[in-house]
Amino acid sequence: MTHVFPRHTKADLPVAVHGDGIYLVDSTGKRYLDGSGGAAVSCLGHSDAEVREAVRRQVDTLAFAHTSFLTSEPAEALADKLIEHAPKGLDRVYFVSGGSEAMEAALKLARQYFLEIGQPQRHHIIARRQSYHGNTLGVLATGGNMWRREPFAPLLIGTSHIAPCYAYRDQRGDETAEAYGLRAADELEAEIQRLGPDNVMAFVAEPVVGATLGAVPPTPGYFRRIREICDRHGVLLILDEVMCGMGRTGTLFACEQDGIAPDITAIAKGLGAGYQPIGAMLCTGAIYRAIEQGSGFFQHGHTYLGHPVATAAALAVLGKLTDGGLVARSQAMGEVLQSALEAAFGQHPNVGDIRGRGLFRGIELVADRETKDPFAPGHNVAARVKKAAFEAGLICYPMSGTVDGRHGDHVLLAPPFIIEEAQIDELVRKLGIALEAATGTGAA
Ligand code: PLP
Repeated sequence: MTHVFPRHTKADLPVAVHGDGIYLVDSTGKRYLDGSGGAAVSCLGHSDAEVREAVRRQVDTLAFAHTSFLTSEPAEALADKLIEHAPKGLDRVYFVSGGSEAMEAALKLARQYFLEIGQPQRHHIIARRQSYHGNTLGVLATGGNMWRREPFAPLLIGTSHIAPCYAYRDQRGDETAEAYGLRAADELEAEIQRLGPDNVMAFVAEPVVGATLGAVPPTPGYFRRIREICDRHGVLLILDEVMCGMGRTGTLFACEQDGIAPDITAIAKGLGAGYQPIGAMLCTGAIYRAIEQGSGFFQHGHTYLGHPVATAAALAVLGKLTDGGLVARSQAMGEVLQSALEAAFGQHPNVGDIRGRGLFRGIELVADRETKDPFAPGHNVAARVKKAAFEAGLICYPMSGTVDGRHGDHVLLAPPFIIEEAQIDELVRKLGIALEAATGTGAA
């Protein structure tokens, strides 16, 4: 008997007992290759000796200090190191306990910034359809993931949504990727004009879309145009790098590859790498100064903000990613994974697209690869892949969702950066077993 309230109350799932490199082991001794790092969390695998040691040392030194103190030593060191590697202009780091809270803090900071500088009417948020930015009420209001929003609808603040940059579905045959990206970005201009530029607070987007569409990178130039539009209208650009940040796409921050910097960004998942729950919000010096010279008090704070043990763990993680070369490894092994996926599934009748950056890869499953017709929602292909993969000893992250009335099934892969080539072969082989089981005759 258990008194735990699990999220899936009806699911018959095993109990996890042990982590070993890129593998997880359940209470029956069965081993699972962690092909998605949970939800793109475990970038160092499950038994990293240096991070475990950093946690032990910090618990022995200072486990917790409340906000009667300004910060702590590990929080200061982590903030400095993050800013050293962050996109230009980002200058301050606010530590929280996870991704939803980092995004919640980002929205609240944007709101408070405009209040402090005397523009209270700027409170409208624009985000993208089918986006996911977290599960608290504030960020649920921002996300464009309808099934998550609908049960809470009367409580959500007003947000409007434009299309995501989704070339596989929306690039026209007569259009280059660049032309499509500019057309998609210009939806933001149109929406800002519709709302009145002086009313818009922020545009919110994931640089590479993770949890809802399976590693969809933007087309070249898309985010540069988005940045120009935001600048022209004084709208803040908030990038959600909770999933795609911390080296997942082959650079520490995903937006580096798009040649832009945000006003505010949120990171989490890979920051603690699963060893501690931690997230962070980074903002520009200009935004920080508006608070510092205004009320001097950011209206957001939870008990565990800047937790010493969590920041000490993240400092060890960040050291391994940057000085230890694991960001570069994410880039290199990502290419190996992409090639292996293309070799195995490039001609698969139900694989429409294989995409991503670094060790952040996605597969879009379709009923017909020529017409790109999706499976009907009732086929539950994503759920079938998940179940079959799990039985075969592979954890991956299948998902389904609807953009502009079109259903889609996707599989996200985000293995630890320490994955070896032979383990990539194992991952792809097990995924092949799962795809056969899910898309074969049993699927229709
Ligand atoms: N933003 C993105 C892009 C995410 O993928 C997630 C989680 O999957 C979140 C925010 C929320 O993070 P958390 O689950 O740590 O609250």
